[in-house]
Amino acid sequence: MIVTFPHMGTLSIVLKSLFSQLGCQVLVPPPMTRHTMELGTQFSPETVCLPFKMTLGNFMEALEQGADTIVTCGGCGPCRLGYYAAVQQKILAERGYRFTMIAIEPNLIHVYKQLKYFAPQKSWREIYHAFRLAGAKMNLLDDIQRELAVIRPREMKSGSAERVWRQTVTAVDLAESCQSVQAIRAELLEKLQAIELAQGVSPLRVAVVGEIYVMLEPFINQNLEQCLAGMGVETSKTMLLSDYVRGHLLRRRSYVEMFKQLSAMAAPYLGHYVGGHGLKSIAYTILKKQQDYDGIIQVYPFTCMPEVIAKNILPKVSQDVDMPVLTLAYDEQTGEAGIRTRLEAFVDLLRYRSKPAAARV
Ligand code: SF4
Repeated sequence: MIVTFPHMGTLSIVLKSLFSQLGCQVLVPPPMTRHTMELGTQFSPETVCLPFKMTLGNFMEALEQGADTIVTCGGCGPCRLGYYAAVQQKILAERGYRFTMIAIEPNLIHVYKQLKYFAPQKSWREIYHAFRLAGAKMNLLDDIQRELAVIRPREMKSGSAERVWRQTVTAVDLAESCQSVQAIRAELLEKLQAIELAQGVSPLRVAVVGEIYVMLEPFINQNLEQCLAGMGVETSKTMLLSDYVRGHLLRRRSYVEMFKQLSAMAAPYLGHYVGGHGLKSIAYTILKKQQDYDGIIQVYPFTCMPEVIAKNILPKVSQDVDMPVLTLAYDEQTGEAGIRTRLEAFVDLLRYRSKPAAARV
C-alpha cells in the first residue's frame, strides 16, 4: 500500500508523519505547480470549486508516481465538499487509474476506525502515539506561523523570517518523536527572537477570513501573507490547520463555545449555518473590528457557495461596523498582477483611514 493525500498548506507534513508512524509507505504528491492546476482543471467539472480541481491534480500526479491509496476528507452538507471523494473517485477510475480511495469523515470515531484499516497490526496505543506526534508537528508549525506573521512586516532585513520558516518546515518534517519536536520548538523560538526588528514601526493589521483551503495554501493565495508583509501589513489568519482539527474533528469544548459566540455575533445578518466557513466570515468581521483591526480580507475559491453567501452580506456588515472589507475570489484564471493591484489599493485605503482626520487631504 502506497498512501497519498492532497496538499493544503502544511497538511502534507502532518499526514506524512501520521501514516509513516502507522507503518505505511507514503508518497507525498509533488509540490503544486501550474501543471497540477492544469491537470485538475482539465478533468474536473468546469464550475466546481478550485480545491476540487487542485486536489484532483494532486491525486493524478501522485498516482502517476506509484501511489495506490488515496486518503481524502469526507464532509456533510450543505456545500459540495461531501461529494468531492465520490466524484473524484469516478473521474480517476474513468481515466484508468487503479487505486483505493478512503474518505475520512470529520468525526473522531470514524477517523480512528479508518486508521485501523491502515495499521491493522498496530495497537491502539501505537496509533495514539502516531496521532500525538502528528499533532505536535501541526501545533508547532501553526505556532511558528503565528509568530512569523507578527515579525514579517517588522523585520529589518527582508527575508529573515522566511529563512526561519524554511528551516521550520524541514526540521519538523524530519522529527521522529515528540521530544525532538519540543527541542526544535525551543531552537526555533531562539531564532525568532534573534531576528532584528525595526523600532517604532506599527504596521496596519488585517485579518483574513474565508474558505480554509485558499487561506492555508500559499500556491493558491499567491503568498498573500508575505505579499501583505511586504506592504507593511501584519496579517492574522482566522483559521489555521490546528484550529480546524480542534474545532471540527476533536470538537474541543473551547471551540464549540467559540462557534456559539460567533454564531450569535453573525445572527443579525445570517441566522443559520451555510456550510464551510461562511458564517464565521461574517462573525470575524465584527469581532476583528472590536479587536481594533484595520481591515478584513475575505478569500475564497470562485463559486464557493458558503463564501458567496457571506460576500453578499459583508457590504452591509462593513458599513454597519465601519470595517473595510476586500473580497478576493481565486480560480485557475487568477493572475498575480490583478491580486497585487487590488491589495495595494486596499492597503492605501487603510493607510489613509488610519491617519488622524486633520492629516487626511
Ligand atoms: S467550502 Fe466552498 S470551496 Fe470548500 S467545498 Fe464547499 S463550496 Fe467548495
